[in-house]
Amino acid sequence: MEEKVVIIGSGIAGMSSAIYLKRAGIDPLIMEKEVAGGQLHKANVIENYPGFEKISGPDLAFNIYNQVKKLDVRYLYDEVINITKEDTIIIKTKKEEIKTKYLIIATGRAPRKLNLENEERLIGKGISYCALCDGSLYKNKDVVVIGGGNSAIEDAIYLANICNKVSVIHRRNNLRAEDKLVEQLKEFPNTQIIYDNEVVEYITNEDKLTKVKLKDNREIKADGVFIAIGYEPIANMLKLENDNNYIIVDSKMHTSLPNVYAIGDAIKKDVYQLVTAANEGVIAAVDIIKHEKSNL
Ligand code: NAP
Repeated sequence: MEEKVVIIGSGIAGMSSAIYLKRAGIDPLIMEKEVAGGQLHKANVIENYPGFEKISGPDLAFNIYNQVKKLDVRYLYDEVINITKEDTIIIKTKKEEIKTKYLIIATGRAPRKLNLENEERLIGKGISYCALCDGSLYKNKDVVVIGGGNSAIEDAIYLANICNKVSVIHRRNNLRAEDKLVEQLKEFPNTQIIYDNEVVEYITNEDKLTKVKLKDNREIKADGVFIAIGYEPIANMLKLENDNNYIIVDSKMHTSLPNVYAIGDAIKKDVYQLVTAANEGVIAAVDIIKHEKSNL
């Protein structure tokens, strides 16, 4: 298979690139290993994306996906296992080998794990990294949210509407989350925030999570634990110049290799927001369009 542009990842960044490329007459291939929309599927309510006073993440993902599909952009649902770059860029999956002139990396970030004993084994049996996806499984139950950023507080607000009790455990004595969100959370009588503490152990009964143990030896009833402690960028297969695995790009989204761009949450930057991810998608696409037009 030979392509002009391959976009790996179909979050808001990758889909924004695809819209601009396709409308300029360049036919990109989007590769996606899960579902179009990426982290959008984990956002309960979005109130800071221009044009939408309030929209759910999955709804916004669906709207953008529809827009992309109406332009007849091609999708390949497959997992990339290797990428090499010599004269051309070669992307290998289990089934395909794809050559491409340009590559846009839009692989985003994955939730950071706490990596406590038994965490892996309890995923889906009490441990979750996505309140929006799994919250309904804990209706009227007691849950713990770990973290002190916007994600943790948003998750706690979402869960407070469903669960019996929500305890937020934060390792420091002040939250990183915006005040507006914290105030919203405090309006729920079934919530508490425990500061200066950490979960050190998951306590189970017959393979089912029942409690968490804290650093100060307290035990808290927990049918579910939602871990919201930030994200790690997805592996950097091309060994591009990076900072803690976040890919370093210039103002045109060029990485350290020619014709390889990176956009969205996978790059090193100051602001990780939907609007900035979409913006980076457009910048990379326009740069490719300019190069191609100047080669005509
Ligand atoms: P974040 O802002 O990086 O916060 C991560 C939180 O987890 C911090 O409170 C951190 O503690 C804690 N943490 C990290 N590692 C930990 C560990 N090993 N054990 C215990 N606690 C740990 O991540 P985020 O909340 O996922 O947000 C990511 C980005 O998305 C941010 O820029 C955020 O503003 C944005 N976001 C925005 C919205 C919105 O605008 N509505 C919603 C969600 C996310 P410390 O504070 O001690 O470092």
